[in-house]
Amino acid sequence: MSGPKQRGALAGGRSYLAIPGPSVVPDRVLNAMHCASPNIYAGALVEMADTLLPDLKRVARTEHHAAIYISNGHGAWEAAFANTLTPGDGVLALITGSFGHGWADMAAQLGADVAKMDFGRAAPIDPARVEEVLRADTERQIKVVVATHVDTSSSALSDVAAVRAAMDAAGHPALLMADCIASFGCDRFEMDAWGVDVAVTASQKGLMMPPGLGFVFFSEKAAEARRRLTRVSPYWDWTLRAAPDQFYQYFFGTAPTQHLYGLRAALDMIREEGIEAVWARHDRLARAIWAACEVWAQCGALGLNIGDPAHRSRAVTALSLPAPRASDLRAWLEREAGVTLGIGLGMAEPDDPAWHGFFRIGHMGHVNAHMVLGVLSSIEAGLIALDIRHGSGALGAAAEVIARG
Ligand SMILES: *Cc1c(COP(=O)(O)O)cnc(C)c1O
Repeated sequence: MSGPKQRGALAGGRSYLAIPGPSVVPDRVLNAMHCASPNIYAGALVEMADTLLPDLKRVARTEHHAAIYISNGHGAWEAAFANTLTPGDGVLALITGSFGHGWADMAAQLGADVAKMDFGRAAPIDPARVEEVLRADTERQIKVVVATHVDTSSSALSDVAAVRAAMDAAGHPALLMADCIASFGCDRFEMDAWGVDVAVTASQKGLMMPPGLGFVFFSEKAAEARRRLTRVSPYWDWTLRAAPDQFYQYFFGTAPTQHLYGLRAALDMIREEGIEAVWARHDRLARAIWAACEVWAQCGALGLNIGDPAHRSRAVTALSLPAPRASDLRAWLEREAGVTLGIGLGMAEPDDPAWHGFFRIGHMGHVNAHMVLGVLSSIEAGLIALDIRHGSGALGAAAEVIARG
């Protein structure tokens, strides 16, 4: 793959990666990571590391357990299963896009007996259907229900608390697992209040870090499921990572030193802003984006993938334009405005011409009003430059949300 061949006259200055992960890394995080390798036996790093799990748990809204892995989100996915599943166990996978398929396929590769419930690529999980399937599981073959909180490919936001309610209504004892990789630190997530047993996330989205750290949060019930297993892959075992006697046990080996300084800075930023304020900021910025997109969509062919705002993520917005205009628009923005938009994911195969009809705006993590307005204005300029028909007044509609809430 190659980048734009030539940069436009107005593309200099600081570029903006407006994709749904990796997200923008704040200077404060970058600066914290820019340090010489510290002593890993004793001293500042070792003491600081003890502050990370409590603060991560605050962001996840859990009083239970947390483990850190040197991994991306796929590693956190695997850790969740490694500690809970035996080959042959039933897994009910609730799918609202490509990431839901990916996590379910991983469970199958690990030997689980996976049933996929696919809600399509433009809708959230329907808890009533989940309840029906769980009621029908009279033998209690299903050990784990996995749900994607926000599927980054479709930008569908699902009601995880309602999935728990469906499980309880069916009287089903399975564990509830949530993929919060896209939503963590962006869309409201309440692990304990929502009855989630295992939540997974990663560093490079709402946590404003480079990729490289995966996180797993788990309840007492999930810890008990781990204790019942006769064999757990040692690297993925969460037991010592969550309650180490010695520093190296947090990471089952050498600590990801500079990443930990970055994580400390990112968690400080979230604590200073306040997690409720972080969610509120994402909500308002997302509504500004939707307001603009809805006006563009009034005339012409731009479409929001998720029609009902109640089911849209505040971290990412998936959009369509008739192929190949979405790819044209992405290329124009990168070349002429210094803005990189996300590709469409999972809406068509990459070798299908229809693939060029989808794109996404990432608005997760270190994002503010001028960044969002900048992306939206750049998109409007691209629509004009490429003669793509669109409703007028989108930027004013976005500014209205920014100005008045
Ligand atoms: C990004 C993402 C993943 C995958 O994370 P990687 O770090 O790329 O492995 C999984 N699920 C969701 C919802 C994501 O947004």
